[in-house]
Amino acid sequence: MKFPAHLQNLWHGKRFNSFNGVLRDDFAARVYKIGLRLDFTCPNRDGKVAVGGCIYCNNASHTPANYQPRLSVTQQLQQGAAAIHRRHQAERFIAYFQSYSNTYDDVARLETLYREALAFPGVVGLAIATRPDCVADEVLDLLAQLARETYLWLELGLESMRDRTLKWINRGHDLAQYVDAVERAQRRGLRICTHLILGFPGESRDAMLETAEFFNRLGIAGVKLHNLHVLKNTVLEKYYLAGAVPLMSQAQYAQLVVDFLERLNPAIVMHRLSAEAHRAITVAPPWSVDKRGMHNAIARALIERDAWQGRLYTKPGIRHSLPVMSSEGAVT
Ligand code: SF4
Repeated sequence: MKFPAHLQNLWHGKRFNSFNGVLRDDFAARVYKIGLRLDFTCPNRDGKVAVGGCIYCNNASHTPANYQPRLSVTQQLQQGAAAIHRRHQAERFIAYFQSYSNTYDDVARLETLYREALAFPGVVGLAIATRPDCVADEVLDLLAQLARETYLWLELGLESMRDRTLKWINRGHDLAQYVDAVERAQRRGLRICTHLILGFPGESRDAMLETAEFFNRLGIAGVKLHNLHVLKNTVLEKYYLAGAVPLMSQAQYAQLVVDFLERLNPAIVMHRLSAEAHRAITVAPPWSVDKRGMHNAIARALIERDAWQGRLYTKPGIRHSLPVMSSEGAVT
């Protein structure tokens, strides 16, 4: 079977359902995300849940390039919009609340910040990244209200569906908390994009691919894939330097992403296929800093295998909230 023509048209020639393509269709214009960094923190760092954070966390990796401390939402949007306009002549933006846990604050203050972003000229929507344990019902009620007024994605970090891995990375929440957050958000009609890292030690290829089927069953609307990479000044760096963290080659990662995409529901929007990290803070792997090279490797692998998102997708049967794990961590 060849890559079907209707999907080629639907996905603008790509072999997966890309977020860029969806934005082009939804807005009939080029829309760019502007990353924002505000003075939020994270319950996994400030002691509420844990201290030290996830073992791979170096927030400089998702701090906007032109970040300056204490700039307001409007000031950050002004800077981001000017840079995007210079580079791409685009005038539509999604305000991306990116760094730390962007729902970890008083609901009234959250609403003020989100509405300040929405009032900025050219902002057509919001993307709000957070943790599953930072979305109390009143936060979700606010997001649901905003989603009725604008285009909104709620980005939830899961990173691994294995509780054993979540513990090892000091994630500070488990799979059950993630499922609970997803279900409460979905009941309010929210669009959820989940962040997932591929390549943790102890997770087999099959175990990672089962996550695609888990997302299908759960009805996730979007996925952000990241390869495991090691950043400076993290606990993971210490483990890596001690030889405890084997990393994939670029070719292995590209093949794994293709395997993952083939099993994923074609309706799920791919927001990202690999990690983005600044060269200056990346320890390994070296290919992780070459975003274009990574995307080319994945595109080549898709073509060579005549593969596409959803090629092996089968509609899930009865939805189970939580998968059953064997003692090895495999889903049964
Ligand atoms: S949840 Fe995010 S901000 Fe918090 S420690 Fe983990 S990676 Fe860092």
